Amino acid sequence: MFCKYCGEKIADDSVFCKYCGKNVLDNDCEESSNPLSTPVVENGTKEQNVNKKAKTRVDIVSIFLLSLAISVACCTGFAIIRMDDSKPFDKAHSMGDSVYDPPYIMGSDYQNDLTNIRKEKFEEGLMKTALYSFPISFVILLISAKIRESSKDL
Ligand SMILES: [Zn+2]
Repeated sequence: MFCKYCGEKIADDSVFCKYCGKNVLDNDCEESSNPLSTPVVENGTKEQNVNKKAKTRVDIVSIFLLSLAISVACCTGFAIIRMDDSKPFDKAHSMGDSVYDPPYIMGSDYQNDLTNIRKEKFEEGLMKTALYSFPISFVILLISAKIRESSKDL
């Protein structure tokens, strides 16, 4: 064989090159076994798993914040649409303006009755909007995120 360092012809079974003195076998062993290659791959997959876990955690946090924002938007929308119901009933409003107005009012002071009924229903509706919109949007976003994740894996 030929020495790979100096290129001189040496005996096939020689360990050291008789011309340049370098260890021919040692370097061959290091190159072929390459002890670093296997752990690097293992570390890579481990890092990927950690990244995946961190990513799902970030996804859940962003989904939580997004559904919170949707919930706030829903409540704001409700408050804007039903704004008049939060105000006291007066001459500017008339009976039948609100969806919460009962078909008839018992008693003489129907202005106060209407104010109370509208306010109660307004607050109730706002609370229901907040209670329902948050978990519903959270679940929808979570399911869509899972679907996206599984389609990525395939
Ligand atoms: Zn040599």
